[in-house]
Amino acid sequence: MLELRGVTSRYGPVTALDNVDLVAEEGRVTSVLGANGAGKTTLLRTVSGLHRADSGTIRFDGQDITKLSPDRMARAGLAHVPEGRGVITELTVRENLRLGALGRSTHREAVSLDEVVDLFPILGERSHALAHTLSGGERQMLVIARALLATPKMLLLDEPSLGLAPRISAQIFGVIRLLVEEHGLSVLLVEQNARSALSIADLGVVLGLGKVVACDSAEVLSGDENLRHAYLGY
Ligand code: ATP
Repeated sequence: MLELRGVTSRYGPVTALDNVDLVAEEGRVTSVLGANGAGKTTLLRTVSGLHRADSGTIRFDGQDITKLSPDRMARAGLAHVPEGRGVITELTVRENLRLGALGRSTHREAVSLDEVVDLFPILGERSHALAHTLSGGERQMLVIARALLATPKMLLLDEPSLGLAPRISAQIFGVIRLLVEEHGLSVLLVEQNARSALSIADLGVVLGLGKVVACDSAEVLSGDENLRHAYLGY
């Protein structure tokens, strides 16, 4: 459903993505792994239109989206959850969530506030709390829930586990898997925590200095000891 062919993205003289080919299938979790600076964030930013590819093509659901603006990407059914957990801190949890529904794509039946709160019950308990009072894990749940309210077909998730306690990361990864299995969502997941990411992924793509160095089932990648040592850090 998402297909990159020969995608190159630069920041001035720095080539962050170098001729990348990648396919993320419908109803699957595809994890993008690699060390710091490998190009993972640039990949997501390029797919969602925040960074323009210098060359190559990106297709989503049969449509060439290479040159679409980020808002048209969102309407096409892509929801990008960037690193950093950006929420509007002066608004309540509920108000932040309602903002998510404003960018709703029309491709799927609308997701309700109650449904996302069922996934992350703490957001229901804290619905009237100002977002600046949330913990890191709660904020991460809020930004994922807000993205879901836009009823995307594919979620682009950047480092959801960064800095979180293992128990909270596990909860978030569990919800990601559930969304794929029970709600038919597709997920492109960028993670430095390769072990956890592969444990919930169907497919994995490993980047090294902007190039794809491996692309296979999660099972094959996690069984490849050389690759794990060289690129995945475990
Ligand atoms: P990290 O896990 O550290 O975020 P990453 O795999 O997501 O790393 P990117 O952030 O995509 O990697 O960075 C890829 C390359 O592009 C790196 O060499 C980085 O220094 C460079 N880069 C990223 N953003 C910019 C920018 N705004 N201006 C210049 N160079 C950049």
